[in-house]
Amino acid sequence: MPRRPATEDAEHRLLAKGRALHDRGVIVMKFGGTSVGDARSIRQVVEIVRQQHSRQPVVVVSAHAGVTDALLAMAASATGGGADTGAIAERHRTILRELGLPADLLDPLLAELQDLARGLRLVGAASPKALDLLASYGERCCARTVAAALRAGGIPAQAIDAFAAGLRTDSAYGRARPLPDDGRILHALVAVQGVPVVTGFIASDEHGNITTLGRNGSDYSAALFGVAVRAEEIQIWKDVDGVRTADPKLVPMAKPIRSMSFEEVCELASFGSKVLHPAAMVPAMTSGIPILVRNTQEPAAPGTRIEATAVKDRPAVRAIAHRTKMALVTVSSQRLVPQHAFLARVFAELHELSADIGPVAVSEAALTLALDEATAEAALTRLGALGEVRIERDQAVVGVVGDPRAIEAGGAAAVFAALSAAGIPVRCGGQGAPGGTLAIVVPSSELRRTVTLLHERFFA
Ligand code: ADP
Ligand code: ASP
Ligand code: MG
Repeated sequence: MPRRPATEDAEHRLLAKGRALHDRGVIVMKFGGTSVGDARSIRQVVEIVRQQHSRQPVVVVSAHAGVTDALLAMAASATGGGADTGAIAERHRTILRELGLPADLLDPLLAELQDLARGLRLVGAASPKALDLLASYGERCCARTVAAALRAGGIPAQAIDAFAAGLRTDSAYGRARPLPDDGRILHALVAVQGVPVVTGFIASDEHGNITTLGRNGSDYSAALFGVAVRAEEIQIWKDVDGVRTADPKLVPMAKPIRSMSFEEVCELASFGSKVLHPAAMVPAMTSGIPILVRNTQEPAAPGTRIEATAVKDRPAVRAIAHRTKMALVTVSSQRLVPQHAFLARVFAELHELSADIGPVAVSEAALTLALDEATAEAALTRLGALGEVRIERDQAVVGVVGDPRAIEAGGAAAVFAALSAAGIPVRCGGQGAPGGTLAIVVPSSELRRTVTLLHERFFA
């Protein structure tokens, strides 16, 4: 029988694998920074992947915990003439050594990183484009280490950068938005031999420049890859046993929530809960793919299942979310224009800054709103042209997430009564329709007390 040419053979294999993927289903398993933070955790990841190897996992990883922060801090010092990649390189080599992998595995990437740091030092400034390129080394190194650890554990695996896997975005560096996928992601992943270990957080634009999806963006990456391969489920492995009724770092007693709807988690994430990236819900929700949040350190724990169906018998209040590093900005109108024109101008300026706006309070001639600290500082000069501006720094937003009707029917009153009895000043607040969240602004110094108190009030 005549042999098919090699390329045709490869194409044939790919098509067969693509069909098999769809017939047998495939899952996405995303491991966050802490889950790949050191050699011990990575060994745990290898075991978790091994247990589900027959489900054809596509693995997505973040950088090792703290590496993205270290890379961005290095950029800041590069502009001041510093920038030493030594500590970052050593961190990666230590993990490799502790895993029994060749310590020079990442040398080509680490050498590139060193060149880039030298470049930044010479230029004395880092553009958003350069920052994204710099930040990308965290995920690119980690994916190679995790793939090598899987292979060393007897699981065939190969690292692939998200840009090589076809994830494209616009060129909004630092906060890029994905472009529609035309099937190229599935095509790229099917071609990978063994388990693909894909970089979270990063992608590339249409000119081939590396972009990032924003801090903590690898949950979002996991959702985008899950949709692209039409996964049966998207598992997000973290250092907590699922979504809880509050951040366990503030309220150690917070209880795990077994089942949530996409809407509830969107609400929780948009009110600051760090547990899942706010954008990650949307692609999974539109494709109807369930998301499971699981604990790498306790793989037997059920975690949280997030899906489209409304949760039966859900409690009136689901969770207490919070967001730190906020500021309150008050703009007072000089009354030269009518109130509606004044408000329109303020919001036009905030639109220019792509501001994420927290609770807002409007009076006849003034507007108070919560913004994250960086946006608030940037807004000061712009808003100064419209009236007198005042800023209160060191604020936090706390969100009581739940059933809107329950919050209206006494929940909101209970929140204000509890805080007033404890002498905690509430600076600004509001309930957004149709979401069921009551959001309030309190001084950062009162954050822990506020969250603990509200948690006790609704979950004791
Ligand atoms: P990863 O980097 O692994 O993706 P993150 O550190 O970004 O994980 O998110 C997990 C953290 O989110 C937890 O350690 C916890 O402190 C925090 N968190 C905030 N709110 C919640 C909540 N409601 N439930 C669980 N964890 C929460
Ligand atoms: N490593 C990136 C960050 O620290 C992305 C992520 O962890 O999700 O922001
Ligand atoms: Mg994270």
